[in-house]
This record gives sequence, C-alpha cells and structure tokens, in this order.
Amino acid sequence: MDIIKIYKFDRNFFPYPLVLNKSLASERHLIIQMKKKTTELIKKAQDMASLSREEAVFLLNLPLCSQDVYAVMAAANTLSRSSFGNKGERHLHIGLNAGPCPYNCRFCSLAKNLGLFTTEIVFPEQQVLQWAIDAQAKGADGLNIMTTGSFSFERLLETGRMLKSHVSTPLVANTRDISVKEGQALVDAGFSGFYHAIRLGEGRDTPFSREKRLETISAIKESGLLWMNCIEPVGPEHSKEEIADLMVLAYENKAVYSGIMRRINFPGSPFERFGMINEMEMARMEAVSRLVMADACRAHCTHEPNSAALLAGGNLFFPEKGSSPRDREAETGTGRGASMAKCAAILDEMGWVVKLPSNVFGSIPVKSTGPVCSSLLGRSIAI
Ligand code: SF4
Repeated sequence: MDIIKIYKFDRNFFPYPLVLNKSLASERHLIIQMKKKTTELIKKAQDMASLSREEAVFLLNLPLCSQDVYAVMAAANTLSRSSFGNKGERHLHIGLNAGPCPYNCRFCSLAKNLGLFTTEIVFPEQQVLQWAIDAQAKGADGLNIMTTGSFSFERLLETGRMLKSHVSTPLVANTRDISVKEGQALVDAGFSGFYHAIRLGEGRDTPFSREKRLETISAIKESGLLWMNCIEPVGPEHSKEEIADLMVLAYENKAVYSGIMRRINFPGSPFERFGMINEMEMARMEAVSRLVMADACRAHCTHEPNSAALLAGGNLFFPEKGSSPRDREAETGTGRGASMAKCAAILDEMGWVVKLPSNVFGSIPVKSTGPVCSSLLGRSIAI
C-alpha cells in the first residue's frame, strides 16, 4: 500500500506543478506519495538499525527518480551530516607503481593481458614523499598507499616507515591479501588502516576467492589495523542482490568506512559493452549503503568524486596521485585523478567542512548536536 502525504504549499516556494494525482489535492497542495515499506525502512534507519539484505535490495530497486529514492537520499544525507558532524574527508590515494599486473582483474587498467602498461614504473621515493607532504599541507585526512598485487611487500613497509618519519597524516595500505603477521608488520611500519574490498565479481572477474578476502579482513582487524571498504567496482551488469550482499557484509564486519565506487571504462576495457552507471545511480546506491551501515561507520566514501553522492550520505573523497587501476595514464594526477583542491571545492559547495578534524582515525564517531547544515550559510574554506 502507498503512503500519501498531502502538504499545503506556498506558490512562492513551489511555483511548478508538483502534484502527481490531481484528484487528491487542490492546486494549493503538494502530494508526497511513497511506498509504505520505504517509510518503514527510513524510520528503521533513523533509529540507527541496519537494514537486511532483502531490505537493501528493495530500496535499490525503487524507480530512480521516484519520491521514494529522494526520501532515502535525504535520510542518508541527514544521517551522515549528523553522525559525522558535517566533516568532509579527503584521503589522498597514492599509487606506488604502475606496471603489468599478472593477476589480470578484468576491470583493472593495470592488468597485464590488457597491454596498456608493458613496463614497470615505480614512482621515486622523493616523488611519493612530495605528494604526501603537499597533501598534508592541504589538509589531507589520510594517505592511502596503493600497490599492484605483485608489488614487493617489503618495499611497501619501507615506504610506510619513510612516510611516517616525515608526515603525521595517518597511513592506509591498499595491497594484496595479507596474514596477521603481515598486518602487524604494517602497524610497526606506521600504517593505521588497510583498504580491502571483496570485489563485485570476485572469483569471476578476478582470480581471488571471497574466502581469501574474508580471511584478510579478519587478519586486518586482528593485527590492530582499521578496515576500510567500498562497494566496487559497480557496473550496470551487477545484480542488486550482489551489491546488497556486500553492503551488509561491510556492516556486519564493521568497516570503518564503506560507500560506492563505480567501475570506470578506460579505453579498451572488456566492460565497455555494458557502459557505466551514472552519478544519479551512484547516489541512490550511496544512500542505501549509508542506511545499511547505520552507526557502524565513521565516514562514507564515494569514488570518483561527485556532488550527487554528497547529498546522499557520502562525505569522503579520494583525490589521487601515482598509479590508478582506472587510468591509462601512469600518473593519474595528470589523468583522471582529482586534486586535493578540486575535492575540497566540491565538498565545500555541498556544505561539507574539510577543515574539521577527521572522524575516521578518531576513537569514536562524532555525534553532532548542532544544526547539520550550518556551513551552507557561507563558504568554509578558501579555494
Ligand atoms: S586490481 Fe590489483 S591485483 Fe587486480 S590486476 Fe589490478 S593491480 Fe593487479
């Protein structure tokens, strides 16, 4: 059964014909028509209860431009602004190497059998350090240090130690599967967190098993690292069930952050025939993911940076330097990658405050008691 709410409206505020069913209202009324189940799930989320896989699938299947979806996005937006104290986060991704990776994940531009990268490029230590120093000066909340799957683990540790001796911004590793012992070595080298996602199509589009990924997530947590996650890389071919499954997994395993990243079809991608999801679809998924995460997360990410997701529960961007599995340029900072300043500008336009301290590396999430959109009254940063 549908829920129909009728609001009196002022023509000064709603000058356009928004009435969906003229038999139910005069021209001085606005009708909001939503499914009963949508309102129940929003109420559940407002009570900080997570959603089940089936409930997430229901929301993911709502018509994209329906009032139900806008209400879900509004609920996720309010939840994030309140839970995260209106903080906008920027965690700089630094890809240490660009080269032909033998693991050949089908969505990755660095896959060896694609042939986009034929020789190994390892960015010099001084270059990596300079990116980190610049990012810290520009207020980065975290540094995500990524390698391809076959990169030397020892060299990643060395990079962590080198960065830790020069910058105070928290470090997050993003590399192959690890053991508890390797996780402890990362902690000793100065890393605070580990980004690790069970990919959509894991075992089908990658050579890795879901079980191995889950073992790594356990190892991350057991070794004292924070576990960072994202639902990725989302394409139109993925079922809502597959997507909802990973959302619930992120909640159940208490990811410090999760969110939505779409698959990018670089030229020559084997997924070109499927196309890509658009930012509107990303925003719907971002909102559902945010409601599923309830009180488990300290931030909610979206990639690549976009405004729509910031109205749907997203507050965390990844500016990029070095290699990227979404780019055919070896240095994505001169390619697809967004800069720290660009990310700050988008967050600021949407009323997220980058100058506040990060919630991700704090001990508990911020629970704001103030107005959630106060920064909308004026610019919070110089850009
Ligand atoms: S996603 Fe990682 S492991 Fe897979 S091909 Fe790309 S770099 Fe290699």
